[in-house]
Amino acid sequence: MRSDYRRYFENIPVCPHCSVELSCCESPQIHVGDGLGWGSEVLYICLNDECSLFVNGWAQIEEKYGHNSSYRYMQLPGSNEANLMMVGSEDAFKGSVIDLQAVDAQNVRYQKEKEALADLETAIERKNLEPALHLILDEAAAIDGRRKAITMLVPINDLACIDPIRNHKFRDTSLQTESMMAISLLLKANYKKECPYCYELIKSQAKVCMHCKKEL
Ligand SMILES: [Zn+2]
Ligand SMILES: [Zn+2]
Repeated sequence: MRSDYRRYFENIPVCPHCSVELSCCESPQIHVGDGLGWGSEVLYICLNDECSLFVNGWAQIEEKYGHNSSYRYMQLPGSNEANLMMVGSEDAFKGSVIDLQAVDAQNVRYQKEKEALADLETAIERKNLEPALHLILDEAAAIDGRRKAITMLVPINDLACIDPIRNHKFRDTSLQTESMMAISLLLKANYKKECPYCYELIKSQAKVCMHCKKEL
């Protein structure tokens, strides 16, 4: 859901049959009637179960076609043309109603991803771990940006990246492997290793862990 759905919520029309505001629904991939899309990612549909069009539609369709279906009123964004959608149940289209709060949350997330990608450009010279770490830990971010962020861990050279990355659950195992490789390179570059007992960072030549005092 990358496109900006928010604009569709600005002027939502009302149903001419019941005067209730239409619902903003995600368009089905294929229009069942003609096999073509509606040419719009969003449809405004009256989902009011008391709407006279819907209430009376059952008997009309039964009489005309002998199906157990009814009509829902529909308009496309930017058009006043009335369309009728045939529906086989009360629940049809109710699962595709777009949740504005989810859209907003997604926009905020996407905005942060874009900012992090822009900040990545100067992250090495500024020794700024934040944008790289943000991208690596954002499972919804685009994989190319996350991959690029991983390659920057060694040049940024901030050991603070280790704990959050180690504690993160990666959905993509290749990203996880690349992150772990970057961490071990980062440790090597800093003459450090992780104690196998307590996972604290210690000097790579250490024979005894300075934190848990175990022999290595
Ligand atoms: Zn209506
Ligand atoms: Zn230890």
